[in-house]
Amino acid sequence: MKLPEKETEFLKWYSEVISYANIVDNRSPVKGANVLMPYGYSIWESIRNKLDAELKKTGHKNAYFPLFIPEDYLKRESEHFKGFIPEVAWVTHAGDRKLDRKLALRPTSETIMYEMFHLWIRSHVDLPFKINQFCNIIRFDTKETKPLLRDREFLWSEGHTCHATAEEAEEQVKESMVIYENVYREACMSFLILRRPKYDTFAGAIYSIAYDSPLPDGRTLQIGTTHNLGQGFSKAFDITFQDKDKQNRNVHQTCYGLSTRLVAAIIGLHGDEKGLIIPPFIAPIQIVIIPIYKKDNKDEVIEAAEQILKVLQKAGLRVELDKREGYTPGWKFNEWEVRGVPIRLEIGPKDIQKEQVVLVRRDNREKAFVPMKDAAKKSKTILKNMHKSLQKRADKLLKDSISHPKDYEELKEIQKTKRGFCRANWCGDEACGEKVKDDTGADIRGTREDIKEEPDGNCIICGKKAKEMVYIAPAY
Ligand SMILES: [Zn+2]
Repeated sequence: MKLPEKETEFLKWYSEVISYANIVDNRSPVKGANVLMPYGYSIWESIRNKLDAELKKTGHKNAYFPLFIPEDYLKRESEHFKGFIPEVAWVTHAGDRKLDRKLALRPTSETIMYEMFHLWIRSHVDLPFKINQFCNIIRFDTKETKPLLRDREFLWSEGHTCHATAEEAEEQVKESMVIYENVYREACMSFLILRRPKYDTFAGAIYSIAYDSPLPDGRTLQIGTTHNLGQGFSKAFDITFQDKDKQNRNVHQTCYGLSTRLVAAIIGLHGDEKGLIIPPFIAPIQIVIIPIYKKDNKDEVIEAAEQILKVLQKAGLRVELDKREGYTPGWKFNEWEVRGVPIRLEIGPKDIQKEQVVLVRRDNREKAFVPMKDAAKKSKTILKNMHKSLQKRADKLLKDSISHPKDYEELKEIQKTKRGFCRANWCGDEACGEKVKDDTGADIRGTREDIKEEPDGNCIICGKKAKEMVYIAPAY
C-alpha cells in the first residue's frame, strides 16, 4: 500500500487513510451521513471521555434533549432562525399523515433547551447553571461533504450555561477556553483562538470565539467554538431568575461545541506517509502486541505474549494482542501502522530466550530492546515522550503556518502558494473580507483572543485605517 503524499494531495491522502484505517465507511446511502466504524468511534470516545471529565470537574451536568425541534421554537430568536434555516432538515409527515407542526431535526439545541431552562430556572440560587449534551446534529450544508471534515450528520458535545451577570458569562467563556485547551492538548493539537468578525458570529450571539487548527496542506480547520450569547435568547425564551434584591432579571448565557471534526483534525495533523499517528493519551489502543512464531514454537510465544498483555493491562495501559491466524507479522505491522497505534510490541522465540521484548514507536519508528520486566515502565516513558514530540511538531507547524505579508500582493502570493494564516491589518469592513475571499479563497478568521494584538498600519486590503490585527486563512 502506498498513500498519496500528504502535503501535496491532502484530501486524497485523507480519504484513503480513513478508509484503510477503518475510521469511516463512506458507502452509506445518504451523502454526508457516514458510518463511524468501531476504531473511528473509539477515538471519538476517548476525546469524549476526556471532555466529559473536564466538564464535570467544572460543574457541568449531562442531560439529553429531543432531536425534534418545533419550527416555532427555532423562529423565536430571529437571527438564529435566519442563520440556520438554509441547513435545516424537516420532518413533515408521519406515515402519510401530514404533521400539523413542522419539526426540525436539531441543527443545534439552543431553542429546545432554552424553553426548558425557562421552566427550570427560578432564583439566583439556581445559577450558575451548566448543562452539557452529547448528541448527533443534522445540518444539510450545501457545501461539498467530506467524512468528518464536513458532514451532514455528526456527533458533538454542546455546553449551555446561564449566569446572573454579564461578568460571570465572560468568565464562563474563559472557562470553556481552558476546558477545550485541555482536551486539545491531550490530542497534541496546536491552534489559534480567534474572535470571529462580527459578520461571522454565531446566529444569535454577541460574539464567537473559534479554535482554528492548521492542517499540513495550508488550510485550517475549526475544531471548536465558544459563543457569548448575552441576553438575546434569554429574552426570546423568557429565562429569568429572582435576584438577591428580589428583582426579576434575565440570565446571561454562553454555549460551546466540540464535534467529531476534531477526529479529522487529529488524523490530518499527525498522520504521515504510513498512515495515522494517534496521540498516545487519546489512543484507544496504545500498544499492540504482535507475536512472531513458527508452527513448532507457537504455543510458547502466544503464552509469553498473553503474559505481557496482562502485565501491561495491569499497569493501566490500553493494549491489544493481535493473534489472528493467517496473517504474517509483516502484514500486521503495516496494518497497525496505518491505524496509528503508538507502540508496537514484538515478541518472538529469541526474545523469550533473552527475556526481552521489542518496542517500536510509531512516529519516529525508534526500536528499543527492553527487558520483559521493564516493558510497562518503558512503554509509559515512550508514550510520554511521543506525546511531547507530537505536541512540539504541531506547535512548530502552527508557528510556520503564520506569515506576515507586507502588502496585499504578497498576501495574495502567499495564499496562492504556501497558504496558512496571514497576520495582517484590517479596517473592520465586511467588504474587505469579501474581497480577500474572492481574490484568494481565504477568510478573515478573526483576532487573537488569548493575547492582545493592536493594528500597526493600514488595512492590507483597502488601505484605510486599520482597526484590528487579524488572521486570514483558507478553511475547510
Ligand atoms: Zn479594508
